[in-house]
Amino acid sequence: MKHIFPTYAQYPMEIVSGHDWHLVDSDQKTYLDFTSGIGVCSFGYSNDWIEQSVLNQLGKIWHTSNLYPSQLQDDVAKQLCPEGMLAFFCNSGTEANEAAFKLARKASGKGHILAFNNGFHGRTYGSMSLTGNPDIQAGFQPLVPDVSFADYNDFKALDGITDDLAAVILEVIQGEGGVVSGDPKWLQAINQKCHEKGVLLIIDEVQTGIGRTGMKFAYQNFDLDPDIITCAKALGNGLPIGAMLGKKALAAAFGPGTHGTTFGGNKIALSSAKAVLEQLTPEFLDQVQQKSKAVFEVIEKKIAPLSVVDGISGMGLMIGIHLNPAIQVENVIAELQSQGLLTLSAKHNTLRLLPPLVMSKADLLAGIDKIYEVLAMVSSTVES
Ligand SMILES: *Cc1c(COP(=O)(O)O)cnc(C)c1O
Repeated sequence: MKHIFPTYAQYPMEIVSGHDWHLVDSDQKTYLDFTSGIGVCSFGYSNDWIEQSVLNQLGKIWHTSNLYPSQLQDDVAKQLCPEGMLAFFCNSGTEANEAAFKLARKASGKGHILAFNNGFHGRTYGSMSLTGNPDIQAGFQPLVPDVSFADYNDFKALDGITDDLAAVILEVIQGEGGVVSGDPKWLQAINQKCHEKGVLLIIDEVQTGIGRTGMKFAYQNFDLDPDIITCAKALGNGLPIGAMLGKKALAAAFGPGTHGTTFGGNKIALSSAKAVLEQLTPEFLDQVQQKSKAVFEVIEKKIAPLSVVDGISGMGLMIGIHLNPAIQVENVIAELQSQGLLTLSAKHNTLRLLPPLVMSKADLLAGIDKIYEVLAMVSSTVES
């Protein structure tokens, strides 16, 4: 790529088309997809309901600006928001977190935010400043001030939740950080302490939301009560859309003129989100849970015992296979690619799996079997 900034270390092939949960590269090689374009295309690459909704909207109007009200925005907000919340639409995960950061400071009248080491919230200045990963922040200082970090899943973090804090932001499963699951007791303790101290709890559901863990939002697995929720990735199944959801009591801080975006909430992206949410039914989520159960059973039985595997984590169809330092996750990904399976990595040598939620159980298990074969082969070479 001669004309593009080299910000991405890219794989050698270009994906040019896709169908259901299969992708095709420019050499006509086909792949089973365990990435969903990093947790985005949960309904795969040829979902008729979404396609029709977007095509219909393309034929009507693409963009009107937020100077005019949009019934579509209100409909999608109604489908998306938990009871008692309002939505602000934007175009990405990082923008959703920027909105949350701004709303938290303005609504609370306080400046300080507590975030967690190993978390990820995006690449713009506010979100990057909340991202507890020195590699991501390196060279970009000075960052947005008044952000501190505590260790994830560490009960000592509770001491940092004092009434002079505006908000706490966290992921209930750290995605980029290596599919690190939040300890349910710790998450509940954080939730309780925030509410006791009048500190807003922001849950970043950009990766975990929209069905990925078998619930609409991952926090619902842990019985938490966030004040603000951010989502993006899977919300538009590939069209750029993000959303910040917040309790109605926060509305006064986000009055006319306080925050805005030209493209946010545009009708094309919203027409896709509408069709995504219409398909995110209790029956669909139940199927995700059933598939997850079948997949984790095989992973626990066959993959977890391998000598190159240090542990398994995740929930729903968000899966982390933690590899031993004896092997490099990128080598495993390359081998799987050559065998026609696309996978992801995450921090700490983690093989990360985010298959489309619509994938058949048979293809999910076939992909898991391929990963088993490759890791078993590597295990035998590492041992000998
Ligand atoms: C991907 C991600 C983001 C950033 O989303 P962008 O759309 O890339 O800006 C924020 N938070 C989490 C948890 C993510 O996984």
